Amino acid sequence: MSEVSLRLVGVTKTYNAGTPAAVDVLRGVDVSLNTGEVVALVAPSGAGKSTLLHIAGLLDTPDAGTVEIAGADMTGGADRKRTTVRRDEVGFVYQFHHLLPEFSAQENIVLPQLAAGVSRRVADARARELLDIVGIVPRAHHRPAALSGGEQQRVAFCRALANQPSVLLADEPTGNLDPATSDTVFDALMTLVRETGLSALIATHNMELASRMDRQLRMDQGVLTPA
Ligand code: ADP
Repeated sequence: MSEVSLRLVGVTKTYNAGTPAAVDVLRGVDVSLNTGEVVALVAPSGAGKSTLLHIAGLLDTPDAGTVEIAGADMTGGADRKRTTVRRDEVGFVYQFHHLLPEFSAQENIVLPQLAAGVSRRVADARARELLDIVGIVPRAHHRPAALSGGEQQRVAFCRALANQPSVLLADEPTGNLDPATSDTVFDALMTLVRETGLSALIATHNMELASRMDRQLRMDQGVLTPA
């Protein structure tokens, strides 16, 4: 495994370029996550966090700059290569869980593994292992609608890690939960990240949660600075 899981250098992004409505959202973002490092991305709404996370996760492309994931430079990579690296190396978590409603918690974690070619037996074992880390094995066979908001989000974390990515990108992962639930669910996320040894870039408004991570970066005027 590479020492650096995620590296962005000089990343820029402008929406509506060349029109009066142009917005320079990213003006030269540099960030590097070492293997196992958990970094908070703190910024007000509209500052460009989602844009940055989408570019880092290969869901969008920068206008300039480079994105490197698990040692591979993804700049100008063919779509097929980007899709493969995104599937194998990047886990995403959003504010809303986006679980498939007609499948159980365990099945939601198994399905992405089957899509990646893992056997059912191995995928089931991996799902149980992840559910165990976040403390909800007894809820494994419930559908999302039968789970609390905090439990749904824990399942979404497990699903994001199902294919053993190198990097976890999270956009306000506890933003939909009440403060007490947010606190314990965030603890579950940190345990999961620590036990699996992956790197994470986690956007949050919550300074208390940010302070529990290894490092805090603030996004301001389209660049990242230490908070
Ligand atoms: P955050 O996640 O920090 O709230 P975003 O990355 O979603 O911020 O958006 C940053 C800025 O870019 C906002 O001003 C937003 O309106 C603008 N923006 C985001 N996506 C688009 C788009 N597809 N087209 C035009 N403007 C956009």
